[in-house]
Amino acid sequence: MDPRRSIPRTDAVLADPWLAGAVERLGRSRVKAAVVEAQARARTGEIAPDDVAAAAARSLPQRATSLRPVLNATGVVLHTNLGRAVLSAAAIEALQAAAGATDVELDLATGRRARRGRATMAALAAAVPDAGAVHVVNNGAAALVLAATALAAGREIVVSRGELVEIGDGFRLPDLLESTGARLREVGTTNRTTLADYRAAIGPETGFVLKVHPSNFVVTGFTAAVDVAALATLDAPVVVDIGSGLLAPEPLLPAEPDAATALRAGADLVTASGDKLLGGPQAGLLLGTAPLVERLRRHPLARALRVDKLTLAALEATLTGPATPTATALHADVSVLRERASTLAATLRAEGIPAAAAPSVGGVGGGGAPGVVLPSAAVALPAAWAAALRAGDPPVVGRVERGALLLDLRCLPADLDDVLGDAVRAVAAREATTREDTAAGAADACTS
Ligand SMILES: *Cc1c(COP(=O)(O)O)cnc(C)c1O
Repeated sequence: MDPRRSIPRTDAVLADPWLAGAVERLGRSRVKAAVVEAQARARTGEIAPDDVAAAAARSLPQRATSLRPVLNATGVVLHTNLGRAVLSAAAIEALQAAAGATDVELDLATGRRARRGRATMAALAAAVPDAGAVHVVNNGAAALVLAATALAAGREIVVSRGELVEIGDGFRLPDLLESTGARLREVGTTNRTTLADYRAAIGPETGFVLKVHPSNFVVTGFTAAVDVAALATLDAPVVVDIGSGLLAPEPLLPAEPDAATALRAGADLVTASGDKLLGGPQAGLLLGTAPLVERLRRHPLARALRVDKLTLAALEATLTGPATPTATALHADVSVLRERASTLAATLRAEGIPAAAAPSVGGVGGGGAPGVVLPSAAVALPAAWAAALRAGDPPVVGRVERGALLLDLRCLPADLDDVLGDAVRAVAAREATTREDTAAGAADACTS
């Protein structure tokens, strides 16, 4: 009998329990396409007819998103390529709750329309009592764009030459600001800017004075910059881009500016990111005097920059909830990290895996606190294992340094050490097989 006649029909294959579950997760058309492709392979004899359902299953992803959860073993707390801040369990629960129909703009008591995101704004205002009003937009860049558009389009933004920074990925704040139709009035030099420089530039064309925290580099030596309190004596509104999103001083990072201190020093408006040191979802925070913030909130552009209900939910939970994973990683006790690294390395070594505990140096990341090093601890493995670990399930991203792959434990909760260990075991097993194959191949080559 022609084996191709025994190829199961599409409906029969789709009745397979795993594939039926996949239809729920991925949609019928995608799963059906995978089945049709597997049937075609069976028809050519590439796979057995009995293997159609399994082959279709193998070709389908676990989830409808291709974004994969990754173990951040880099030691960099806010890794831009890994999505910056990790949300707390509370924030994740909040965004799940908000994912369906939700009362984001409805007062359930009266049945009337209510102010969008009111509880999130209240939480932000409560966290920074020095702000007369607050608003939230899509990200830090959007906060700056809204401020520049509403307060300085067609006019001048007075800014120090030492603060015209590139944020990353080729995006430069001066270009961003000028894209709004505001003109930059650069004052001072790269290393030194004085209050007199600002004063000389301020006039009828001034929209505002901008102070940008140079968050991803440091200038040392013969330098001078003007602090917010001094800028506040000038006859112009002062906007301060603090970048990191610290709402109050963080003793561990004395050089990082925070919103409360900037406002108390006299800033009219502070802009910041939500997914850096604040430890929340991507968002742009605007905190300042009530009239200024209200002007921004009412500007037509505000609608184009507004955040969705998921962001509002996660931000509220970040502001009101337990310590964020960002704060936990930042404050992790290095002696505890060392203990975890030795335990994990010893366990792996006892299984014949070439692992060793090693000191490591992490950082804040996310373009923040460039001079700050966070002493840490890692499990060191052969550098050649880095690619295999990234390709694993879950993918593990470490750092290759001095010829070794370092898996830094600072950004991993302790309850993931077992998961990390299993990921290493999987790669070690594959490496051992490859070595045997290579050895066998070499032996064959010798005998022939
Ligand atoms: C990160 C950063 C930005 C950009 O914020 P996003 O949230 O990434 O848009 C702007 N200014 C400073 C000083 C920053 O550190």
